[in-house]
Amino acid sequence: MADVRLQAVTKIFPGGVTAVASCDLVIPDGQFTVLVGPSGCGKSTTLRMIAGLETASSGTISIGERIVNDVPPRDRDVAMVFQNYALYPHMSVERNLRFPLERRRKTSFWKSLLFGSERAVRQAESVDISERVATAATQLEIEDYLHRFPRELSGGQRQRVALGRALVRDPKVFLLDEPLSNLDAKLRIAMRAELRALHRRLGATMIHVTHDQEEAMTLGDVLVVMKDGVIHQVGSPSEIYDRPADRFVAGFVGTPPMNLLDGDVRGTDFTSSSGAVCTAPVGTAEGAAVLGIRPEAIRLSHNGGVSATVTSIERLGDRMDVVFDVDGTSMIGRCEPSELIEGQPATITFDVAHVFDAGDCGARRGKGG
Ligand code: ATP
Repeated sequence: MADVRLQAVTKIFPGGVTAVASCDLVIPDGQFTVLVGPSGCGKSTTLRMIAGLETASSGTISIGERIVNDVPPRDRDVAMVFQNYALYPHMSVERNLRFPLERRRKTSFWKSLLFGSERAVRQAESVDISERVATAATQLEIEDYLHRFPRELSGGQRQRVALGRALVRDPKVFLLDEPLSNLDAKLRIAMRAELRALHRRLGATMIHVTHDQEEAMTLGDVLVVMKDGVIHQVGSPSEIYDRPADRFVAGFVGTPPMNLLDGDVRGTDFTSSSGAVCTAPVGTAEGAAVLGIRPEAIRLSHNGGVSATVTSIERLGDRMDVVFDVDGTSMIGRCEPSELIEGQPATITFDVAHVFDAGDCGARRGKGG
């Protein structure tokens, strides 16, 4: 079993920056988990603590049955893939792939001499390095580049070699730190599909870090959404999209982002801070509240609704993103293509599916809460 557990894990860097604040997280064996959040939210620090490249200031980190806080990185049975590939430039692809295994074999040899650990050396010698390299090269379709040097490869090919270096070690847990962010948009999408396929084939635990919510939604079985060192929500992509736990998650996940209207509820009316009025969901408590409306929940109407002015239109072929002004409140809608004109009036209707408490990270209320 290679489940990964964080219990009350905190990381405070010298100088006082709290990068991770008392995080509790269970990543089950074999799950593809994505840590996602804006820059500086603590996702890389969390990954690096699991890898052993940073020490936790407090709390416990376990991999499988073992608490690993004091276990050196090479003995944690994890392999990390970095954004910048971290390949040895003076070695061919094949040497880059062989290197982690040869180094492990050497370390085991010295361990056996120094500590009499026969078992370690037998284990290392039982690994057929050439076979492991050949298998990884086939799985990642880099067999034809084995003789080349990293500088002779494209970004996508380099990233595959970096993945191959992790793969040959047959780790219990793969730790992926923004591995796709140096690739162009088209390649990034192709590599996402390859990563998913690789995960299906290997069935290994994978923990992937990205700031890109779209990448997170397409890759992860489970997303861990972080901000300012704190986990805001853990859930499947659809749970996070359909029932964001708070205003931050609601605004972070989705393109274009959810419309979040600050305002006040009196009776059945919601009045936004700019004075626009709409009907609050049935049962919404009176007082300050935030209404959340997904862009795709906004529709153009020919028989009544809310009067708006079209501020701007972005045509995307099969759909268009339209910014509407409703009495000084800006709302973005993802609509069917139509003959709307910028600066002209339009009538819209929308469903309010989300209500949050007031404040930057106001908690979700039950529908109509
Ligand atoms: P990004 O997407 O930009 O890589 P991140 O979510 O991965 O961001 P971290 O790199 O984990 O964020 O950083 C979390 C916080 O800790 C940030 O405020 C960062 O400035 C701080 N930090 C990271 N490494 C160090 C360090 N070695 N010393 C001091 N502060 C650090």
